[in-house]
Amino acid sequence: WKKINVESRSQDELYEMEKTFNEMIDFLKDSYEKQEVFVSDASHELKTPISIVKSYAQLLERRGTEDQELVKESLGAIDSEADRMQKLVEQMLALAKNKQASKKETLNFTTLVKQTVQTFQKAYERDIQFKNECEECIIHALPDQLEQVVYILIDNALKYTKGKVEVQLTSEKNAAVLSVKDYGAGISESDQERIFDRFYRVDKARSRDTGGTGLGLAIAKSISEAHRGELTVNSKLGEGTTFFLTLPLS
Ligand code: ADP
Repeated sequence: WKKINVESRSQDELYEMEKTFNEMIDFLKDSYEKQEVFVSDASHELKTPISIVKSYAQLLERRGTEDQELVKESLGAIDSEADRMQKLVEQMLALAKNKQASKKETLNFTTLVKQTVQTFQKAYERDIQFKNECEECIIHALPDQLEQVVYILIDNALKYTKGKVEVQLTSEKNAAVLSVKDYGAGISESDQERIFDRFYRVDKARSRDTGGTGLGLAIAKSISEAHRGELTVNSKLGEGTTFFLTLPLS
């Protein structure tokens, strides 16, 4: 350890030190506040499923198990609320995990996107079109995490809209650009600024019904940035939404 001898420093050096120190304090304060907000939002999100599980358990305790309809309804609700809590915990872990250093691989982005699109095409009877205009789409990435981003974007397009979904890969300068376009209700400008925030949902009830937690886009953005990429949205109410994921090519 080397001690700083303030007395022997010039006025300029002291000023620089003060500036650096204050920047550090601001950074730490900001991180701490963000952490506090996250913990408080996470607790809030977990409270609802916990209280639903508790109230059904208490209802069964009070009313007994004679009414088969009630038993079925209660068990169904307990099961789906437990699923919800599981998803919330998994997604919160995904956000934390993204901060860890893992080994990136050199991979073909076209193959990864194509496979994810095919998974959705098999699972849903929906019109999902895929167009590849990115030749030699080689990137340096964590395959599981990147697949998660592509999954979140297509899943949202299918979840929040009814019509067709267009997935397209192009290249631009030294980057690969993935776009996921839908022709649904769109997202207002003020909501566009907030949809990447943790737990933010435009329509809480609708998102909850479709199993949404408000963490998907926050995860997608955080993964994109960890890959030195960018995730942006372009949307117009009544016309639809396009999400763009830009990643540096290898
Ligand atoms: P959720 O788990 O609620 O889907 P996300 O973080 O993935 O959380 O998305 C945040 C919100 O952004 C959603 O609740 C929804 O209101 C809105 N949203 C996301 N994708 C679309 C889309 N393609 N069309 C319309 N709204 C969308």
